[in-house]
Amino acid sequence: MDVRGYVDENAAGFFDALGQWLAIPSISADPAHRADVRRSAEWLAGHLRQSGFPVAEIWETGTDGAGLPAVFAHWPAADPSAPTVLVYGHHDVQPVEPLEEWESPPFEPVQRDGQLLGRGSSDDKGQVLFHALAARASAALHAQDEGGRDPGRPGAPPVTLKLLVEGEEESGSPNFPALLANNSGRLGCDVIVISDTTMWAADVPSMCTGMRGLAEAQIDLRGPERDLHSGSFGGAVPNPLHVLADLLAGLHDHDGRVTLPGFYDKVLPVSGAEREVFARLPFDQQAWLDEAGHSRAAAGEAGFSTLERIWARPTAEINGMWGGHTGPGGKTIIPSQAHAKLSFRLVARQEPADVAAALREYVAQRTPPGIEAVVTVPGPGVRPSFSPADSPAVQAAKRAMERAFGSEVLFTREGGSGPEADLAAILGAPLVFLAVGLDSDRIHAPNEKVEMSLLLKGAEAAAYLWDELAAAAGDLPAAR
Ligand SMILES: [Zn+2]
Repeated sequence: MDVRGYVDENAAGFFDALGQWLAIPSISADPAHRADVRRSAEWLAGHLRQSGFPVAEIWETGTDGAGLPAVFAHWPAADPSAPTVLVYGHHDVQPVEPLEEWESPPFEPVQRDGQLLGRGSSDDKGQVLFHALAARASAALHAQDEGGRDPGRPGAPPVTLKLLVEGEEESGSPNFPALLANNSGRLGCDVIVISDTTMWAADVPSMCTGMRGLAEAQIDLRGPERDLHSGSFGGAVPNPLHVLADLLAGLHDHDGRVTLPGFYDKVLPVSGAEREVFARLPFDQQAWLDEAGHSRAAAGEAGFSTLERIWARPTAEINGMWGGHTGPGGKTIIPSQAHAKLSFRLVARQEPADVAAALREYVAQRTPPGIEAVVTVPGPGVRPSFSPADSPAVQAAKRAMERAFGSEVLFTREGGSGPEADLAAILGAPLVFLAVGLDSDRIHAPNEKVEMSLLLKGAEAAAYLWDELAAAAGDLPAAR
């Protein structure tokens, strides 16, 4: 028996189990579903124990367990010197509204034409659960290989496997950094595998090598203490909306580059090799524009392709701006206040705190006398994550994916942001993105689905990855 044979033989049981799990409405954003999130964690811990993990436990989060539970599982390799791999995923799901747009109820999963429909099927329960199947396959096949020499030894995977599956990802992972820091000893690992992203297409397997981070800010400008009559005062006092328009217009130069001081100083340039791989992806600009709300033209930083702009370059966006009179009719005033909300997508090596500081400096430099400017930053932001495509762990995963799919695996990045950078920073290990979701899976939207054949490929690729990482152990950076 080989990995593919094992996965195929156990496919029906795998999808039955996944169906049971998907029926639990573990919506982390909705306090009414707290008990369901806990039930989902307990279901997973039980399933992991049945799959062979000697340790599978519920981890409470937040002060006095006020957060939602995560699941931790541990399966030591037979060889104590084998590398340790931590798999990250999440068992909570997005809300399901608008319910009337679902073709079948979101928590009554159905199999149809090779797809499994239901909330969480792709994001992220399906992609977590293929690891349970992969671990079983890997342990069983290693027991079979080693049976002749030591028939009494129970099977174990060729690397020490740890799983950390959180219950608050869809709510911004508020307690996750503390959970990582408090348990960093038990979570120690040489490689972190993330299974919560997508591939380019079902027939174009690919691996993500990075995710953009995020910084957010609000600018509040105050001029006169009340709105002024523009006939009596106009032309002789500063107008907060004019100043705001100037500040916002000045955020980009004519090449679409962000003008904040030092904004690009730490940006890791896109390598020639990565640009070449991006350029080989079958990208249809018009189809992409159609998906982009029927945008009529692409726009952005000069000198970069659309994929480079959304994956590998940082941005500054105005999300909203307001002030003065916006009701019906005219009102001849100098407004007292002007406001804007901004957000920045960040790429590797940029720090959200640096960007916030640069914005404060920019606003302070450009605000004229008579206007008071306040920049408010709502939180610490999200740090970007990045894994060089030529690193030993990413190359091992590429070989594993290629064995599963039987074709070349390309590299992508993702524009979004999650807790990945925290994982890498707090645990001090490189990230590898092994995932089989598709952009067409309608995650976060009605009628979420997953391609059943791709989940099985994911299980296969994961089992191969444990072998590849065991074989590459000497090349991995010494994390611990
Ligand atoms: Zn997810």
